[in-house]
Amino acid sequence: MKRKLVAGNWKMHGTNADLAEVAALARAHPDPRVDILLCPPATLVVQAAALAADSPLAIGAQDCHPAASGAHTGDISAPMLADAGARAVILGHSERRENHHESNDLVADKARAAQRAGLIAVICLGETLAEREAAQTLEVIAADLRASLPEGATAANTVIAYEPVWAIGTGLTPTAAQIAEVHGLIRSLLAERLGEGEAAGLRLLYGGSVKPANAADIFAIADVDGALVGGASLKAEDFSPIIKALEATA
Ligand code: PEP
Repeated sequence: MKRKLVAGNWKMHGTNADLAEVAALARAHPDPRVDILLCPPATLVVQAAALAADSPLAIGAQDCHPAASGAHTGDISAPMLADAGARAVILGHSERRENHHESNDLVADKARAAQRAGLIAVICLGETLAEREAAQTLEVIAADLRASLPEGATAANTVIAYEPVWAIGTGLTPTAAQIAEVHGLIRSLLAERLGEGEAAGLRLLYGGSVKPANAADIFAIADVDGALVGGASLKAEDFSPIIKALEATA
């Protein structure tokens, strides 16, 4: 039975002072009906994982290098993240695709590295506003999914997050019909690649300006199995109502 998932992405926010939010979140949902993942910056993974130990809250990271080790100054490998207590890693976020020129091939290599390290790869895809306005959304999503998803992807080791670039951090969200259309496409492409059973079990998250006020409406959309949440994951008091909204559908 598929467990829905709410994942939080703290991006480049958070210092020791913010670990109180991790502790509060770990305490707030002792027996959740959904999976909860929080991805703080790499500097906080060890402490966050210690605070979340013995709670249902899983800690993840926001990127990894495709190699397990080597001469890559400043990078962090998937085995290092697993060793630090991470259980998942966000890959191919649009901010990394744009700011660090990450290609689909690189995202797939990183996802393979995550698999080898026993981490869940949360692979992000999304169209820009220009692509949406040019009616290219479906072809962009299809091409990015095909090229970012590595062989060996399963419902257990992979999560796909649909995050329209124009909806991230803007307060804008697509219509329910637009989200349903993209999630339906992703599900059918996954079925072609992995088979119906595996595709049905693989969690598809929506991300982009999910807030307590719109979460229930987004979670009611077909083929939405949860959310990837940026800004509203920084404070437990904002993140918890989103978790509760997903629990209401589980
Ligand atoms: C994100 O960073 O993945 C994201 C969806 O951000 P926000 O919720 O702030 O739009």
